[in-house]
Amino acid sequence: MTHKWKSKGEKRTITWNYDPSPTVLAYLKDMQDAIRYSLSVAYGIVVKDPLHGTPSPIELRREIRDWFYSRYDYARHHINPVCRASVAMLRSYRKNHGELRIPEVKKLAMRIDSELFKIVDDKIWVTLQPNNYVWIPINTKNKHYQVYCRGRTSELLLTDKKVCLTFIVSRNEKPLGKKLIASDLNFNTIDHTSVSLSAPRLEGVATEPIRRIAQIQNDFSRRRRAIQLHVKNPQKRERKLKETRGRQRNRVKDALHKLSTEQVKRNSDASFGFENLNGIRKNGVRKSEKRSSKKFRTQLNRWPYRMYQKMIEYKSPNKTLYVSPRGTSSECPVCGGKLEHPAWGISRCKNCGVDYDRNRLASLAILLRGLRLCGQPFAVSEDASWRSLKDEYLYVSTKSDCGKAGWTENANAPNENGVYKNTHS
Ligand SMILES: [Zn+2]
Repeated sequence: MTHKWKSKGEKRTITWNYDPSPTVLAYLKDMQDAIRYSLSVAYGIVVKDPLHGTPSPIELRREIRDWFYSRYDYARHHINPVCRASVAMLRSYRKNHGELRIPEVKKLAMRIDSELFKIVDDKIWVTLQPNNYVWIPINTKNKHYQVYCRGRTSELLLTDKKVCLTFIVSRNEKPLGKKLIASDLNFNTIDHTSVSLSAPRLEGVATEPIRRIAQIQNDFSRRRRAIQLHVKNPQKRERKLKETRGRQRNRVKDALHKLSTEQVKRNSDASFGFENLNGIRKNGVRKSEKRSSKKFRTQLNRWPYRMYQKMIEYKSPNKTLYVSPRGTSSECPVCGGKLEHPAWGISRCKNCGVDYDRNRLASLAILLRGLRLCGQPFAVSEDASWRSLKDEYLYVSTKSDCGKAGWTENANAPNENGVYKNTHS
């Protein structure tokens, strides 16, 4: 069996259409029957002893083994995906419909574990019976195939129309870019600091508005509130809320795809650096963050950020770096002093004696950690590139002081073509 937790690296699937041979079709029909049978057995187990819960695939295999082996002469391993599929279908039926029933098996579809197929000469050879193979040509024109096929195969899904072939792609395959762009992701903006890696030197800092995503999130939370207020029937309310969540996810995902594609296209020579957000949700808040703050509320809804990082990671031709977020908001990346946050958006360092723009400073902190990961520690305070860029990191109130020191809201965002304003003289 292919266990998810055993595979190091990430899974990538390529899909194409095909015409199954009569042998493959017969196999798919047999497996459909086998799934139907094993569903009824699993259902029987639950009905007999409701406290028992849905059986595990291994328990189920014990129950249907004799039936399967006496009925079919397929290689013995084929029983495993049959059991897994049945258990998964039973569970998801119960979850979606709130009751236990034997779900209908409409589709001809079968997963095949990695020990039952191999790739030779751009063909998938599937072991049906011991020493009896069928082969299916791979669509080698798939734009990802040549890259993915360097990885191990993980799983094959056959239907009567499609082939889905999954590879495990090693994570460390990509090279480091010529530049490093460190991004701090926030509710309304992404703040980037970029550095050239050949001889570390700060290249620029930019704040990019991502209001679109915030807008979608706000729209939908308003919609959800309305549903909660006005839909009285609890079942209907639950269903409506679920629908809304799904739609929100799709809209945000769409916006994130556009954003990340843009970003990667614009910086094809760069590696991206992010805060590692795994576990942030669990711990709730960064320590220095006030509970009542706006950031706290958005912290709880960080999945778009994680998703954006993932998208960049797989779209970028270069390696993506993740740094620990611990202390990025409490330690001054310039001098190592303690940061205070007297107001929203401000990081005050008494040691440096200035108020920094909180988000931009965070991107600098991520950048320095990223550089350390690349084995290129960089002391900002002593570098000429920092001196020429320092003003860009200072906090300027956008409301009252607008226009002061040449500041406008867009002055520091990339322009229409997404080009960073380079502040080097
Ligand atoms: Zn400082």
